[in-house]
Amino acid sequence: MNFVVEEMEQLLKKGYYRQMRRLDGSQASRTVIGGKECVLLSSNNYLGLTEHPEVKEAAKLAVDRWGAGSGGSRLITGNYALHEEMEKEIARFKREEGAITFSSGYMANFGVIQALVDRGDVVLSDELNHSSIVDGCRLSRAKVKVYRHRDMEHLEKILRQAKGYRRRLIVTDGVFSMDGDLAPLPDIVALAGQYGAFVMVDDAHGTGVLGRRGAGTVEHFGLEGKVQVQMGTLSKALGSAGAYVAGKRELIDYLRNKTRSFIYSTAPAPAAVGAALAALRLVERQPEIRAQLWENARYLRVGLKSMGYKVPSEDSPIIPVLIGDADKTMHLAQALLEEGVFAPGIRPPTVPQGTCRIRATVMAIHTRGDLDQALSAFARAGRDNQVKLGC
Ligand SMILES: *Cc1c(COP(=O)(O)O)cnc(C)c1O
Repeated sequence: MNFVVEEMEQLLKKGYYRQMRRLDGSQASRTVIGGKECVLLSSNNYLGLTEHPEVKEAAKLAVDRWGAGSGGSRLITGNYALHEEMEKEIARFKREEGAITFSSGYMANFGVIQALVDRGDVVLSDELNHSSIVDGCRLSRAKVKVYRHRDMEHLEKILRQAKGYRRRLIVTDGVFSMDGDLAPLPDIVALAGQYGAFVMVDDAHGTGVLGRRGAGTVEHFGLEGKVQVQMGTLSKALGSAGAYVAGKRELIDYLRNKTRSFIYSTAPAPAAVGAALAALRLVERQPEIRAQLWENARYLRVGLKSMGYKVPSEDSPIIPVLIGDADKTMHLAQALLEEGVFAPGIRPPTVPQGTCRIRATVMAIHTRGDLDQALSAFARAGRDNQVKLGC
């Protein structure tokens, strides 16, 4: 077992060693780290719904009615009316015929891609897709072809060479999780039509955030009915845990029969489903929460840019602050924390080498005061660490 120590030494040397930071508070706008209160600028809780009284109450009610756990897989013993209601609501929200839920987004991608393609098929995957997609592709035994990030000429070139395969699946994040930019879905859908491929979108960060009703990237682009497999999570803007795939009735039936991560895993816990249901209803009933999220994102982004920070994308509440070097990034993250702002540094293998960054995310529940504190922390920490653009 010497390899354990040796490999960890390698990680340390490269500056890639990871440690968990313990939060002694919740995913509120301010939380507690190391005994100190700080602005939480790293949560995927975009709408603040983990903190919403209606969402928390719904989780408690679900526990009272259905218990703490669901006792087995959906196909054996764990299928409650609550799960079916969730799937019906998701399908309605996404304007699809049906939906299937999973315990996590990782499990959804991991299992669904494997269920959709096999030996003799090909998957075309954006190079910055989430690791759960990468792992789903690996597991599938299909040929995997990676196209350059958002590069449609490259995608078309690969599609042209992919005629000999049985099925062609194009899979992409809707909102890229570490960059915050959007997949060029209209072009992807058009290319899929032209080359006889089908499309799967992972809308983990789009669900509840993008589109007029918050239904996600597909709604944002007006592509309803044109993306065959719509995956999303209940763990980010919906403030709970779990994931879904929405699509045609026959696809959902197929996935129930073919997806190993659905078949062989305990049904999502009642508390998580109850909370996600309440969150979904809030998303639909209170569009003003989403409007506040976008206003906060704009405010922080404009402030960071005016200080000279490099903020490459403008499409979502994910605000990547590009630094490049791993050590510099981690020093800046530490300095921000000392200033009372938690916005972690992101390094390989999560992002490509040389593109280390602070990944700041805003929430609808941040006040102007929270965001101003974050901005002055970035100003001071950046000055002290000489990481601003042009330094
Ligand atoms: C977070 C995320 C997932 C995984 O979802 P979990 O519910 O956290 O397992 C999948 N895809 C993308 C793009 C994500 O950002």
